[in-house]
Amino acid sequence: MHHKDSPFVIYGTSISPGLGQGITHVHQDLLGPIDVPVDIPHNQVEQELARLDFATAGISNDLVTLATRVEKEIDLRLSEVFGSHQLMLNDPLLQQELRQEVIDNLVSASSAVKAVFLRWERRFLTLESQFARDKGDDMRDISIRLHNALVGVTVHPLEEIPQGCVLIASRLLPSDTVFLSDRAISAVLLEYGSSGSHAALFVRQMGVPCLSGIPDLMKTVPADVLALVDADAGNVTLRPEKRQQAIFHQKVETKAQAYRLAIENARGPAVTLDGIKISVVANVGSDHDTQQAMINGAEGVGLYRMEQAYLGRTEPPSTAELVAEMTQVLAAAKGRSVCVRLLDVGADKPLPFLAFFAESNPALGRRGIRLLLEYPELLRTQLRAVLELSGEFDVRILIPMVTLPEDIVAVKDLLLPLCCEMHVGVPKIGAMIETPAAALSSKAIARHVDFLSFGTNDLTQYTCAADRENASVERYFNDASDPIFRLLSLVHEDVPHMPLSVCGELAGRPEHVAKLLTCGIRTLSVAAPLIPIVKEAIRNCSIYSD
Ligand code: PEP
Ligand code: MG
Repeated sequence: MHHKDSPFVIYGTSISPGLGQGITHVHQDLLGPIDVPVDIPHNQVEQELARLDFATAGISNDLVTLATRVEKEIDLRLSEVFGSHQLMLNDPLLQQELRQEVIDNLVSASSAVKAVFLRWERRFLTLESQFARDKGDDMRDISIRLHNALVGVTVHPLEEIPQGCVLIASRLLPSDTVFLSDRAISAVLLEYGSSGSHAALFVRQMGVPCLSGIPDLMKTVPADVLALVDADAGNVTLRPEKRQQAIFHQKVETKAQAYRLAIENARGPAVTLDGIKISVVANVGSDHDTQQAMINGAEGVGLYRMEQAYLGRTEPPSTAELVAEMTQVLAAAKGRSVCVRLLDVGADKPLPFLAFFAESNPALGRRGIRLLLEYPELLRTQLRAVLELSGEFDVRILIPMVTLPEDIVAVKDLLLPLCCEMHVGVPKIGAMIETPAAALSSKAIARHVDFLSFGTNDLTQYTCAADRENASVERYFNDASDPIFRLLSLVHEDVPHMPLSVCGELAGRPEHVAKLLTCGIRTLSVAAPLIPIVKEAIRNCSIYSD
């Protein structure tokens, strides 16, 4: 153990980069261990059941409000989380088990909530997959909400945390994130939480540095001490000495200066030292993303993810609805090139209005273009919407999860008649290269497309046989590893004249930019905040000469 008051360093995995310092604030879990259930007499059963119904209905409403707030203030994808909480809360099996607990054991509604949710949460947490574990977090989140409603607590514990603190928590639940959005948190340290978790998505979106996977965090880190969090290097110095503070401040200043420089230059083109112009475009999902991207100097949109327009709906959007949604999201990029990716959902992200078959291996099942080809009307609606946009934007179509050249041919068979019907030119078409099969058949695929875009997130998942959402195989998921760069080079060698871009996370990591360019990549599509530093990285490298 460290001596009381002496500095010490702990290590974790970075799930959101950056530097932050502040006073530690330890956030204990509210629900805590189960305490003695509160017994009720027979004649109070009806009353407890009514309280349960009342609380459930109230929370269902709260969740809708919350989803709207998150959508506006934070991120569209995160708002979905609360939609799914509402579904989970109203799950007939869960509701039945809650009622049965009150009736059989003669306990209060709050005691029933604690007992039943703990059972459900445990069921999820003992499962191997990260997906199931995240569901365990969701269960706990809902149970806290329901429990609080029953006992009349209306304040969220994070509503009280001090500005600028370093938050220490066992894990971060989705609804915690909403309360954090109002506060200027310096950094977050977590015992659990993978880089694919909701918490990780959120902290990255907010630009809050975060380290996770710190064993015994809650026991080791004292409250109310100064912490210097270096989420770039993966360490935290607690109770630092003056000398350590000075070094840290120097690091913060150097980084801030580099960022200021990058922002100043962001609007200018990105040209390598040996004079090659590289296109830097943006990955977007909301209007906020597109606005931010344009401010930061994006030349267009390299990947518009349209999933948000579909998820959580009971009926698919019509062409007009889709056009309205796309026009809103892409408005800030009017007149520029925008690359619309066709809907990329599948068995792991089911759509309520499509027949759902449980697949034992959803990532290898009917997702992306495979699903769309099964539902041609769904695909036609998207193609029509894209064609309607072609008057105001220079639109391109990107096809997700391609494995065979036939995937593209099938899309074109639907697209060409629509172009004639609507009297518009045929837009440029690109294939996402995110399966090894697509990379290895680029020659055959290239015959049917105008450009290729590497989705390195999925390409890594399929090449390394490592689920991108599963923290326990994170070691195998390395998107900057030799096998990935080899596939990129191979494609460049096979189709040297084909425009190549990368739109996976790898494109946004400045340290790998030079290598990507030597693999023939000439367009990088990255999240809006990364555009300035990616452009700077391009300006500092040369492709053909050292
Ligand atoms: C990818 O797989 O790299 C990609 C860009 O698509 P998504 O992350 O949406 O699957
Ligand atoms: Mg992908």
